[in-house]
Amino acid sequence: MAEIKKMLYRNGKFYPWKSGDVHTDAGMVTEASLKKSKGTVKSHIGNEFKILEPNFLDLMAKIKRGPQIITKKDIGFILTETGITKDSVVLDAGTGSGYLAFFLSQHAKEVISYEIREDFFKIASENQKFLEIKNLKIKNKDVYKGIEEKNLDAVILDLPEPQLAVLHVFNALKEGGFLIAYLPTIVQVEKFIKTARENFTVIKITELLERDWTVEGLVVRPETQMLGHTAFLCLVRKI
Ligand code: SAH
Repeated sequence: MAEIKKMLYRNGKFYPWKSGDVHTDAGMVTEASLKKSKGTVKSHIGNEFKILEPNFLDLMAKIKRGPQIITKKDIGFILTETGITKDSVVLDAGTGSGYLAFFLSQHAKEVISYEIREDFFKIASENQKFLEIKNLKIKNKDVYKGIEEKNLDAVILDLPEPQLAVLHVFNALKEGGFLIAYLPTIVQVEKFIKTARENFTVIKITELLERDWTVEGLVVRPETQMLGHTAFLCLVRKI
């Protein structure tokens, strides 16, 4: 799969292997030893690494980043609240570096993604090639100017003025289809909801906060830092 053939793992750290020798802070692992080893491999100074197959998340950690991506906590909401399945056809805009589009492509039958900027379109296209994703079509297009597709199951808009695309989305969605606008500020939410309400049913406007915990000996408590506000998720439906 993809350019990364194996992952080396040691003491909580991953090192990708594409080709050649792998240089790590626990020594060098030669290509020759990697090719003949199974399960584990040793560096030139005798440190042992586990050899793993990279999974989708390992590969996603290596994609090129353009603008701010949608976080995994919010992608969970998008997938579950729209009921996307392997039969769904889904559109997202803008693509950015493609982070959301790539997740969607693992769950939907087909994904179409619009990106207005050529530089981001190129980054996302390179990332798509790296991940070897086949059911995604990225288009260098302005979603405010129109949507060519019809009969979509869901649309996700991660751009500053989604109200400018609301009518296009309405015409592109099938009856019962969902639209999610992902908006950092409540001022944007107000503008979007006002326009969306003219055609869509507003289901909910949600914010997700993620708080991790430390569980080590007597230190059993929430961490001080948390993943707080990223954006509001505005869920509306064509009914
Ligand atoms: N969801 C993406 C990040 C998107 S960032 C991810 O998870 O990686 C917002 C993107 O929207 C930017 O790349 C920006 O260029 C694009 N954009 C802004 N206005 C647009 C428009 N009218 N049509 C298409 N893309 C647009």
